[in-house]
Amino acid sequence: MRTKTIEKLCCPFDKQDLKLEVFVKDTDQNILEGMLSCCSCDRKYPIVHGVPIMAPDEYRQKELEQPIIEQWKLEFAPESNRQLPEI
Ligand SMILES: [Zn+2]
Repeated sequence: MRTKTIEKLCCPFDKQDLKLEVFVKDTDQNILEGMLSCCSCDRKYPIVHGVPIMAPDEYRQKELEQPIIEQWKLEFAPESNRQLPEI
């Protein structure tokens, strides 16, 4: 999904603006992996394989989203915040 398209999205709950963090882009500047967060209600909408996941709470699959978010935290967190996995 293109950055311009994503910038037009707003939170489905309160229609507030979303903050976009981009983690992975392809060579055409399409966003492959990223995170949208609502400035108002603080909901997070992950972008996975170029598709923003913006389903209502009751249809969201946290067990699918959570591992992705955790992985991004590890991959994209600043060095100082990074925690090494316990062995
Ligand atoms: Zn919101």
